[in-house]
Amino acid sequence: MQILRAESLRARNTLRLESRATALVEVSSPVQLTEALDWARAEGLPVVPLGTGSNVVLVGDLDALVVCHRGSDMELLSEQGEQVLLRVAAGHDWHALVQRTLEAGLYGLENLALIPGTAGAAPIQNIGAYGVELDRFVVAVHALETANGRAMTLTAGDCGFGYRDSVFKGELRDQLVITAVDLRLSRRPRPELGYPALRSELEQAGISEPRPEDVFRAVVDVRSRRLPDPAREPNVGSFFKNPVLKAAAVEALRRQHPDLPVYPQSGGRAKIPAAWLIDRAGWKGQRRGGVGVHPGHALVLVNYASDSGAELLALADEIVASVQARFGVALEPEPRIYGG
Ligand SMILES: Cc1cc2nc3c(=O)[nH]c(=O)nc-3n(C[C@H](O)[C@H](O)[C@H](O)COP(=O)(O)OP(=O)(O)OC[C@H]3O[C@@H](n4cnc5c(N)ncnc54)[C@H](O)[C@@H]3O)c2cc1C
Repeated sequence: MQILRAESLRARNTLRLESRATALVEVSSPVQLTEALDWARAEGLPVVPLGTGSNVVLVGDLDALVVCHRGSDMELLSEQGEQVLLRVAAGHDWHALVQRTLEAGLYGLENLALIPGTAGAAPIQNIGAYGVELDRFVVAVHALETANGRAMTLTAGDCGFGYRDSVFKGELRDQLVITAVDLRLSRRPRPELGYPALRSELEQAGISEPRPEDVFRAVVDVRSRRLPDPAREPNVGSFFKNPVLKAAAVEALRRQHPDLPVYPQSGGRAKIPAAWLIDRAGWKGQRRGGVGVHPGHALVLVNYASDSGAELLALADEIVASVQARFGVALEPEPRIYGG
């Protein structure tokens, strides 16, 4: 286990923001992770787990031991009828996992193709795309407590999953390093085609009865066309969550803005697209210094030429204030913000 001191995180976050970690370690097993946690305790440093940095905004330096879990095993734990239980180590690349399971004839994850990041980070915000969220597959999450290195296992019910939310963002925030995730997949294909953009992509390809492989390809094609590539235009995907509002609030908004898209949710609530609000507030393509709003995608903030997370946060604050003033809706950032 090699502890690196004063390590730059610029190449380790997809916004390419400069930030130095007091210390950084790469581990690939729970034993190494335990050693790293012991070391941090002895040094009096907090621990910050980091995957590929595709959902963090780093503002200034991180006075912490940054722990990157590199373990990438995938183990088949059990098989019962069509159901298969897998254990995936935290460092497994997410998209590679989607491909790997599909190739093994294990279905379910295809709508979540091409989401950047690691398997260990996936439960943090309950990743979701094209009508599917991670929580429908999670059976358990394994972790070590940062305070004492104790191993713990959370059942799916313990994880408090919600829309881009979980207990790991709430009461267990900063308390655990996830080491592995148990997922239940199926040998029986059940393509999830509820999402309109996905359906029309398949229709345009002339596929009327899609297999999971077709869904995977369609998701990869749509995402590659629509979303800016962080390697060329540094970003963290959607910068804001889609607001979920009470029906009465949505109706009031709809009276003023009849073309507002609305997606009904359970409990009489409805989700409205943050991208629509930001676009209507005139932000698409706007720049502030080295940062800006992507010209083709209002929900994506891009770091064109800035070192500073502070500049990006200032832009985010301006957008929040303008959407609040115009629509009376509060936008909430999706990525985790460190510092600032
Ligand atoms: C172009 C682009 C498109 C995206 N599209 C989507 C999308 O469609 N849907 C979606 O949900 N998200 C999307 N995202 C966001 C991002 O891909 C996910 O949130 C992903 O799960 C982050 O993984 P990561 O390994 O990069 O996590 P990081 O950014 O490294 O970490 C994110 C948070 O998780 C914590 N964390 C990471 N690993 C662990 C661990 N092992 N144990 C405990 N905590 C940990 C970190 O401390 C941090 O707080 C997108 C991002 C980009 C750049």
